[in-house]
Amino acid sequence: MAKNKRYIEDLDQYEGCYDKERFGMNPLAVAFLQRGQRFETGVTTGKTLAKLLTFCDPRWVVCEIPQPRRCPLCNERVVAEIGGAEVVLGSAEIRVVGEEEIYAAPDLVYHYVTAHNYLLPQEFVAALKTAKAGNIEHRAVINALR
Ligand SMILES: [Zn+2]
Repeated sequence: MAKNKRYIEDLDQYEGCYDKERFGMNPLAVAFLQRGQRFETGVTTGKTLAKLLTFCDPRWVVCEIPQPRRCPLCNERVVAEIGGAEVVLGSAEIRVVGEEEIYAAPDLVYHYVTAHNYLLPQEFVAALKTAKAGNIEHRAVINALR
């Protein structure tokens, strides 16, 4: 029986923006939040946040849409400073390559954490520790999705 799920929950298989023909790995979803969706809140270290932000760099985002979406939780237009430049978030996704899994998140994930205390899944935080935006594995994933 087909499940009619209203929300994409954290660590669900992510099936949006995904081309099976070109890319054989299924990412796990992180932070595809929608208005009304419940999520865990908590404290995120500055180190994790700084690392997360490096993945929101326009050089490394995928699945871009022309018009940035506002935050579904607070309806704000979200701007972040990345490498000294102002970047509007809400129009792309990020990929984080962990040792076991690849994770997909909207670039608004950074705002969810900083503005709404959204708590990143533990295994995603662990993946962020070893992952590096723009390294060879990461670039391979990004290039496959572009
Ligand atoms: Zn917000």
